[in-house]
Amino acid sequence: MRAERCVYCGREWNVSLLASIPPIGYVCPGCEGKERARARRYGQKKPRLKAKVTGT
Ligand SMILES: [Zn+2]
Repeated sequence: MRAERCVYCGREWNVSLLASIPPIGYVCPGCEGKERARARRYGQKKPRLKAKVTGT
């Protein structure tokens, strides 16, 4: 686990080391939902945050 600061609410969250952080910065689950709702309202494309993990 590592601490990442959410770019929206500014809180620190424990994030898995394997989690991919987008270039704009980490977005916590709560803000992610809000951002998705906002994007839908403005008719933007929904970003796919779920990445397929190809394990060995
Ligand atoms: Zn947040």
